[in-house]
Amino acid sequence: MSITGLVQGVGFRPFVLRLAEEIGLKGYVLNNTTGVLIEVEGNNKKLHEFLLRVDRGKPHISKIYSLQHSFLEDIGFKDFKIRESEEQGEKKALILPDISICKECSKEIRDPKDRRFIYLFTNCTDCGPRFSIINALPYDRKNTSMKDFRMCIDCEKEYNLVSDRRFHAQPNACHVCGPWISLYDCEGTFICEKYDALERVINLIQKGHIIAVKGLGGYHLVCDATNEETVSRLRAKKQREEKPMAVMFPDLDTVKAEASVSALEERAINSIEKPVVIVKKNDTTTLAPSVSPDNSTVGVFLPYTPLHQILLRKLKKPVIATSANITDEPIVKDEEDAFARLSKIADHVLAHNRGIIRRCDDSVVRVVAQRQVPIRRSRGYAPLPVTVNFRIQKPVLALGPYMNNTIALGIDDKVFISQHIGDLDTPLATEFFEETVNDFLKLFDVKPELVVSDMHPGYYSTKFGEKHFNDKLVKVQHHFAHILSCMAENDMPLDSEVVGFAFDGTGYGIDKSIWGGEVLIVSYRRFERVFNLRPYRLPGGDKAAKEPFRAGLSLLYESFGNEAIDFKGLSITEREKLFLIDMMRKNINSPVTTSMGRLFEGVSALIGLKQRVSYHAQAAIALEQVALRSHETDSYQFIIEDGIIDYRPLIESIVKDLKSGVPEEAIARRFHNSIVDMIVYISDSLKKERGIRTVALSGGVFQNTILLENAFNKLKQRGFIPLLHQVVPANDGGISLGQIVATQF
Ligand code: ZN
Ligand code: ZN
Ligand code: FE
Repeated sequence: MSITGLVQGVGFRPFVLRLAEEIGLKGYVLNNTTGVLIEVEGNNKKLHEFLLRVDRGKPHISKIYSLQHSFLEDIGFKDFKIRESEEQGEKKALILPDISICKECSKEIRDPKDRRFIYLFTNCTDCGPRFSIINALPYDRKNTSMKDFRMCIDCEKEYNLVSDRRFHAQPNACHVCGPWISLYDCEGTFICEKYDALERVINLIQKGHIIAVKGLGGYHLVCDATNEETVSRLRAKKQREEKPMAVMFPDLDTVKAEASVSALEERAINSIEKPVVIVKKNDTTTLAPSVSPDNSTVGVFLPYTPLHQILLRKLKKPVIATSANITDEPIVKDEEDAFARLSKIADHVLAHNRGIIRRCDDSVVRVVAQRQVPIRRSRGYAPLPVTVNFRIQKPVLALGPYMNNTIALGIDDKVFISQHIGDLDTPLATEFFEETVNDFLKLFDVKPELVVSDMHPGYYSTKFGEKHFNDKLVKVQHHFAHILSCMAENDMPLDSEVVGFAFDGTGYGIDKSIWGGEVLIVSYRRFERVFNLRPYRLPGGDKAAKEPFRAGLSLLYESFGNEAIDFKGLSITEREKLFLIDMMRKNINSPVTTSMGRLFEGVSALIGLKQRVSYHAQAAIALEQVALRSHETDSYQFIIEDGIIDYRPLIESIVKDLKSGVPEEAIARRFHNSIVDMIVYISDSLKKERGIRTVALSGGVFQNTILLENAFNKLKQRGFIPLLHQVVPANDGGISLGQIVATQF
């Protein structure tokens, strides 16, 4: 297991040494240019204990600003040592992410005798806003959005006193001199401010109002998460009919009252980064059903700013805290924007006058196969780098993909990945993308000598690269980038070869068709496509992602030919079916695909779960949710030969099972089992043929927990080394890392 942390203070390495020896782990700890690196080896149980105790038992005077960990293959250490510091590479001042409020500050704002009692912008050298308020480096107050606030005498004293815990705390502030909140109605008319605004907002939330609340990296839409009427009203207004919304809780106890939380999940919820953690709802949950409809899980997180802490403590109940935006647009960060874009959603706007320089959404993680797996790496993590085990010769800029876009900068042995930018399909999103590219180049003060994009000619990010960097642009195949990102974050040696399962919804293939069910043999230098899902058509092209019945019908047509029309499960008329089949036959707007994501969605439609969806991957999520209710161990068969994974026998069996009344959960589960079996079967055969034991699992389809957990465990049992994502997301949020890696070999 490797832990990288930004740790300041004394006594941290000796503490790690003692802890490792006490638990009986081998490895080392060292300080490097960006913080501290710990590698420990031992059995799973001991590693987990170590991880759980690193935060908890650290010496008082040391501070952890971030702590990322991943489980890696053993190397075979003989003892535990404090190693000499790695002094290679320039000592660069890192740009810190926004850091959640620390214990000391939290204590102050609760203490009626303290001068910062209920001061909503309390921070210190160890906590508070960073990334979201920095205009330029160096990180001095005059270069932040705090420059307009002049420190009062008391604050200035703290700022200048070496022994004070606010020594050089750039955003230092208090009631007298710092920012404050103001409440407006949805038209932008001022109502009240400061303490009055706080009391008023609490009252409004209790009464069932929806408030746009300005936070750290943007606005949240906040309302009572236990009030079904309010939550469904928010849903309707946000045009986010069914997508789960994150819930912020007053504390861990209130989380545990609504959801079951394992030790690792608890660690993630409590971690310094305070991500949204996806956990299983309790049967007795009092959360409104509309929080995460038809879904056994819910995204939970704890307050990470003084404002959120005080709000939640006074409310004493969980609130929805979902990014304030209209579906798929970037999160709102300015007041002007809030009034313009949120007036139809929020009843009131709780603003404050500390500017947000750059927006940063909440991060999302979940625990799968006893690993913390990122779904979205943003606030708390961005812009901290991922360290790679090779040297990046010249600065490289990666423009990322189209969906879940992030960009990245490769410098020396570090890849700085941006905050979540999102899908580049609205003018606001592409504007945010361009802003972020310029922002990163300015902030890190580099001129990229190489720029890398996806191969898809239609992606905004690709076109942007062609327009602005054409002379130094390299294009990298999407699924190659997925597997490279997984190899790089798992520290795979430079001469390694892995079997990569790159399963996702869509990615441009080198044959110009839409790939997505790809088995690749990958080295850092190149990839070879050894298996792929049998190609099928998507009548209506892009519409298929929103309307899974299209993929469903296509799969039927591939399996049964014209008899596909007789199948009763799809919610379209016979005429529509004929029309779509005709389209496919005549090749009218029916691109060929090998997409695994669309296979999941097509099957979801065939079973009768989701014919049309309101958000990305909803049909696949519904399929997983149904499968979770079953303990079925049977599976369906693929025919796997000549590089083709043929799903036709699987589709035939599903139709047969549907006809004979097999329950939907059993079918859904068998389907999941079949994908796992297929992965194991192909891995086995490639091990025999090519002698490769390492198997990388990447692409958005691996956000499916049944699939990831079972594939991981089964591969492990059979002696493979399965690699999964623990640093960047398996979805397209990780592509920018893979793009950087691809340019270096
Ligand atoms: Zn603090
Ligand atoms: Zn002050
Ligand atoms: Fe992808």
